[in-house]
Amino acid sequence: MKQHCPHCGCQMIDVLRLDGLDERFSYLEVDGVLTISICPNCITFIEETFVRYDETGRSEIIPYEASLEMENYCSEADLLEMNGNQLTLSAEAVPMHYASGGDEVITIGGLPDWVQDAEFATCSDCDQTMKFLAALPWNALMDGSEGTLYIEICTDCRTLCLFHQQT
Ligand SMILES: [Zn+2]
Ligand SMILES: [Zn+2]
Repeated sequence: MKQHCPHCGCQMIDVLRLDGLDERFSYLEVDGVLTISICPNCITFIEETFVRYDETGRSEIIPYEASLEMENYCSEADLLEMNGNQLTLSAEAVPMHYASGGDEVITIGGLPDWVQDAEFATCSDCDQTMKFLAALPWNALMDGSEGTLYIEICTDCRTLCLFHQQT
């Protein structure tokens, strides 16, 4: 069943899937596929979105109060295009600084190419600094979009933080 955002009504999209059984992601301690669903509309307006995941890989956005009714700027066509992406992890390892300087590279692990200043979120549960997990340039998901979505993680609490940067 398709989920819809409680704030703007936009359809949620799976922005990232990581196979926890893949040994490269064994540190996640997820016994399944970690699937991160977000609202593609709200995510760009909200400073930080926290997501909790369980040991099977199921994830849920931690409910938050939106200060105002969000308008949905995502069209059906946008959603189709984003859902048409089947992004999978490259089987080849790349150097740690592979993403630096390129703005079209989807990064998992290592160091991302920051659009603005490097930003490390604080875990909403344990107050530790979160670790970088992934960077997804929106343009790789949908032609002509701007900015990059960053995903950071606290494996102790099984918490993710998602935020958007744009020039
Ligand atoms: Zn929304
Ligand atoms: Zn934590």
